[in-house]
Amino acid sequence: MTDLTRLTAAELAEKIHSREVTSAQVTRAHLDRIAQVDGRVNAFLHVDTEGALAAAEAVDAELDKGAAPASPLAGVPLALKDVFVTRDVPTTCGSKMLEGWLPPYDSTVAARLRAAGVVILGKTNMDEFAMGSSTENSAYGPTRNPWDLDRIPGGSGGGSSASLAAFEAPLAIGTDTGGSIRQPGAVTGTVGAKPTYGGVSRYGLIAFSSSLDQGGPCARTVLDAALLHEAIAGHDPADATSIDAPVPQVVEAARAGAKGDLSGTRVGVVREFAGEGYQSGVSAAFDAAVEQLRALGAEVVEVSCPHFQYALAAYYLIAPSEASSNLARFDAMRYGLRTGDDGSASAEQVMAATREAGFGPEVKRRIMLGTFALSSGYYDAYYGQAQKVRTLIARDFAAAYEQVDVLVSPTTPTTAFKIGERVDDPMAMYLADLCTIPANLAGTAALSVPCGLSADDGLPVGLQIMAPALADERMYRVGAAYESATEPLINRVPELGGEQ
Ligand code: GLN
Repeated sequence: MTDLTRLTAAELAEKIHSREVTSAQVTRAHLDRIAQVDGRVNAFLHVDTEGALAAAEAVDAELDKGAAPASPLAGVPLALKDVFVTRDVPTTCGSKMLEGWLPPYDSTVAARLRAAGVVILGKTNMDEFAMGSSTENSAYGPTRNPWDLDRIPGGSGGGSSASLAAFEAPLAIGTDTGGSIRQPGAVTGTVGAKPTYGGVSRYGLIAFSSSLDQGGPCARTVLDAALLHEAIAGHDPADATSIDAPVPQVVEAARAGAKGDLSGTRVGVVREFAGEGYQSGVSAAFDAAVEQLRALGAEVVEVSCPHFQYALAAYYLIAPSEASSNLARFDAMRYGLRTGDDGSASAEQVMAATREAGFGPEVKRRIMLGTFALSSGYYDAYYGQAQKVRTLIARDFAAAYEQVDVLVSPTTPTTAFKIGERVDDPMAMYLADLCTIPANLAGTAALSVPCGLSADDGLPVGLQIMAPALADERMYRVGAAYESATEPLINRVPELGGEQ
């Protein structure tokens, strides 16, 4: 019998909907795989065995009655980043602060997945409060990269991307504030998309930096990512920044792209994302990908976005500033952890003791940095200045998109680094998102697709394809065309072996 964990979501959906297999069988196959390998990968913080099987059986019961599938992905299992609240299912956001918390409601993303008949297998590991590029900032131990268990799977959504590369799930959800969907996708040889800001509801997404946070799909193929994108996207009155416009038709775009014809498509190579700091194997794989796009008929030009060089600095003022405000809600009164309450302690003392015990070092660093950047006398020099840079970056994008349809760059300057290698060097860690951050600051869309293995170390490299706001379909079309012309990398992930 076919190993159900090796199939794409589209293939699984086809088999489930034609009743060749049941959703329960598919779900069990993935739960078994998780039981077999997750002791080594640590992609999951919580596996909801009962809930997943019940959801799968409910889908099967409907299909057995002859009902049409609730959605194109009905019955297909998925791994959900633990930053999305799920009713009565533990949600920790990778933090001790929320250990043991059972949310009383579902995030819109979780609710839409359930309504679409998607089976939620469990919650995936992540850097605490989504702050990080390696998943080493999780309070529950790092996730390991299935390509090499001594290396990081990227972050903050390392658990989601690793679950795909380990064949524990065919689909996953991530969030991308500065690159946390695309960078893990790149270093695990999987696909990840950051939709246009406002494209996917943030309701029930535990806030890190509200003007940047965006949920999106992770998958092993561009088509699967597109199917998942459409399942979760669309206007939500519960999120004031949700866009009230038709959802970009990304599935149609991915199918059209898979025909492999890019004639008439103008591709801009971002000049600033090359040179020093880029591993030679990454640059070589990227250059080969650009040649491939040209061979598919695309017209390739070099484009300059001069303000992108300030993106990282602006991001590390804006994101911590918003985080310092958002994380004020963890006050020992309302959610999760409460410590230091000996009966005589003041509310302030309980709050201080709880925050001291509940937050890890990176979260504390960001709260202090952000509080400082917002403080009176410094606000204009730091936060205000960073917001101006943000405008300049948005203008660079606007000018570029007058000349080209999509922009491309490597997703990350390097392949997956070793666990422990950058933990003591925040600047080195932050550099992992050098190429992904501009799209977050401008609110535009971007996708990462696997583009071969680096000749330096045999590890996956990601090709970033960026598109204007609300033109997400462009990146899916180009990504699917590129994918159709290249060998699927995912089949080369080393076997994780049978026993724990
Ligand atoms: N690595 C970046 C950070 O640490 C981005 C995180 C994210 O996108 N959630 O902030």
